[in-house]
Formats: sequence, structure tokens, C-alpha cells
Amino acid sequence: MSPLRNGWEAVIGLEIHVQLSTRTKMFCGCELSFGDPPNTHVCPVCLGHPGVLPVTNEKAVEYATRIALALDCRIADHTIFHRKNYFYPDLPKAYQISQYDLPLGIGGHLDVELEDGSDLHVGITRVHMEEDAGKLVHAGGATGRIDGADYSLVDFNRGGTPLVEIVSEPDISTPDQARTFLTQLRSLVQTLGVSDVNMEEGSLRCDANVSVRKPGEPLGTKTELKNMNSFRFLHRGLEAEIQRQIEAIEAGERVVQETIHFDPATGLVSSLRSKEEAHDYRYFPEPDLVPIELDEAYVENVRASLPELPAARKERLVREYGLPAKDAGVLSANGPLGDYFETLSIATGDARMSANWVLGDLSAYLNAAGLEVSASAVGAEALAELLRLISDGTLSGKMAKDVFQAMVDTGKSAPGIVAEKGLGQISDAGELDAIVAGVLAANPGPTEEFRQGNDRVLGFLVGQVMKATKGQANPQLVNELLRKHLSPNE
Ligand SMILES: [Zn+2]
Repeated sequence: MSPLRNGWEAVIGLEIHVQLSTRTKMFCGCELSFGDPPNTHVCPVCLGHPGVLPVTNEKAVEYATRIALALDCRIADHTIFHRKNYFYPDLPKAYQISQYDLPLGIGGHLDVELEDGSDLHVGITRVHMEEDAGKLVHAGGATGRIDGADYSLVDFNRGGTPLVEIVSEPDISTPDQARTFLTQLRSLVQTLGVSDVNMEEGSLRCDANVSVRKPGEPLGTKTELKNMNSFRFLHRGLEAEIQRQIEAIEAGERVVQETIHFDPATGLVSSLRSKEEAHDYRYFPEPDLVPIELDEAYVENVRASLPELPAARKERLVREYGLPAKDAGVLSANGPLGDYFETLSIATGDARMSANWVLGDLSAYLNAAGLEVSASAVGAEALAELLRLISDGTLSGKMAKDVFQAMVDTGKSAPGIVAEKGLGQISDAGELDAIVAGVLAANPGPTEEFRQGNDRVLGFLVGQVMKATKGQANPQLVNELLRKHLSPNE
């Protein structure tokens, strides 16, 4: 995003909800489901019937601890749940079990690598556990929103799904930075294996608090942008809301603390409701659940079980593979892409070429097709076969790009495509020598000019050889052969 007009700056903090991929719900034994028939994964506990007793899911606590530790939070040795009271049709208990003033993790940070290679330090205020609400389906309207719907249905399957809420400090100042932060946070959580972090399916959701001010001035009034369910919508929603706030202030209006809805269809933001204050929710300690006291041994155990995190991986890729820091940063920020690179690099023994292909042609193809690397039509082993054909001189770099495209299109192997299309560089000196001799005999003029010392005709002669071989001659070898034939002592 270009700098904001008239010297305004934006102050952005994100709240991210992560659905944990435990087998069962946060406080009952119902299995988690996605896409199953409505209201088939429910029980008296998650439906909030009177007299039932919730029990905390131990696995969810472990997963939440993993997230908090990966964000370098301090883990509370005593943490409790609160009831957050509000009425909404997707919440049959009329309260959500959440955490309030004693969250699981506090005071962490995530340092993200920006596109220009610089680091942005984003503080993590808190990481807490809670349960998800059910899902409302507004039917009979054009937009799927409650406005204009004929009726609404409720599915309680999602109600009670374990959630972790991650709240960042307002350390983010542009929509680009927000998108980069969320991308790298998603990658981190994915690395931890505690969620499938699928934004379309709602297992990763992001709200943003945003305000604007002139540099050095106190914080402006913030608004909350709700539920932007893709990286693109987060970016566009922030741009639209920042613009709206600046225009309002410059027109002499006041920014009101409220919840804002971004409509991806129109690109416009609109007020959803006035923002609740904490006291509106009448938080009080959940009397049905015992406090959670995680001792040091437990926390250290979880810490020891963490996989290699992106920051550590970046350092290792630089150290072990000799990659430039920027390449290592991109490959570490996307765990599966990093895995792909490492498999490829080990298979080819050429880290530099492997990184260039993963970050170049492979990424370009994945981006254009909108695919994750796990869905790539060309796996790491298949790409390794192609790169070996470059290393052994069978294919030029340019021919390899065409073969790669054919691999994407047909799913066939590189050697298969080369054999089928009769591709492959002519690197046989004897075969090329005869062709070079023929080209020189057919072009006596330029040949003579070169012998007189006009080096520039060499390019023309190389071109003639390439033409004669339909572009398949090894260019380096052609150059060598031409110089040999044209040297004065021949
Ligand atoms: Zn249940």
C-alpha cells in the first residue's frame, strides 16, 4: 500500500481465532465435524441443557499451550475460565465459556519477515482458550446475510469446538503488513499440527482493530473489522476502513467505536453494531470448571515436543543449504513449501538450483493456479528428475521450462516428455561438429569475415547452427566448436 495521504498513519492490531483439530469438543465428548448433516454432533453439554457439567478437553489445553509457547508467551501457572454472557441464537447456553483476566498465555511476540526483507516485531498480548458458537445459515436471500433473508437455520455441530484466540499488540501499520503477519502466523500454527488453519472453512478467522492518527499523536478511536475470511479480504477490508476513517476525520466527523462489516462484493464497509465493552458481557468465573494449573514440568514437556519453528528453520536453511536469507525466509514461512524444497534439494544435490525452481517456476505455477504446494501437479521427486536433466546437459534451462509446463499440463514425467517429443540437447560433439562444418560451408561470407577478425558474426553463425538443430544444440558446445573451426591455424 502506498503511504497514506496527508501524512496519516494506521494502527492495526489483529485478533485471530484458531479452531483446534482435536477429536472432540472443548467441554464434551461430541466429535468435531465439518460438513456433516446439521445438529448431528450435539449433546446436552454443548446444547447447554440445565444441570450438565462441562469437562475441559486436555488435548485442547495442550494444543493451546503449543500455540502460546510457539509465540514465546509466558504460560500462566494458574488459569481459569469465565462465562461471557450474551444472547444470540447460535449460543444456546446464552454464555460462551472463554477466558478473561487470567488467560493461558501472555506477553509473547512473533517477528515476521516483510516482503522487503526487513523484520516486523509484533507483540502478542494474550493467547486464550474458548469455545466456538454454532453456525447460523440465513436462507432465502441473495447475500447469505441476515439482511434480506427469508428465514434462518441454526446448526449446533460447531458449537463447543475448541478455539484459541490470539490477540496481537497494535504493532502493525499497513494492510500489507497485516496480510504478511497473518500469513506467517498461519504457517506457524500449521507447523504446530494443532489446526488445519483453513480460512475458507472458518478454522482460521481474523478480526482487525484499526484506527488512524498523525505520527506522534495519541491513538485514535478504533473500530473492529469482523471475520475477514481470506487474506485478500483482510487486505481490502483494512484499506477500505482506513480510507473511511481518514475521510471522516478530514470532513470534521468523529470516528465512533463500532463493529464494521466489510462486503467483498462491493468493497464497502458498513456499521454492524456498536461495539460492546467488557462490562456488557458480565464476565464471571465459570463455576462448573476447575482452574487449570500447568506445572513447569508439563510446560517444558510441551515445549520440548514443539517441531522446528519457521525462524529456526530459516537459520538452518541458510546454514545447511547456503541459501540467501531472503530465499530461506520465504521457504521457512511456508512449511510445506520448505519441505518440498528440502526433498528436492536432497534429491538433486543442488540447493541453489532447487531453491530457484521452487521460488521461481513452481511458485509462479502454484500462484497462478491458486494451489497450495501439497496440491502441486508436479511433486518434488518429479521435479528432481527434471533438474537432473538440466544438470547432465540433456536440457537447456529454456527447454526445461517448457518441459515443466508439459509436466503440469499432462502429469507425465520429465524423461517421458523428453522421449515423447524427441527433445533433449545435442551434446554429442561428433554429431554437432558435422553440423557446424555444414553451416560454415553454407555461409562462406560470414566465415571469412570472422577470420578477418569480426567477432560479431559469431552470434550469427551460432544462430544458424541452432536453426539447423531446431534449437536443440548445446549452445556452449556450439560456441566451442565454431571457435575451433575458425581459429587461424585450422
Ligand atoms: Zn456435546
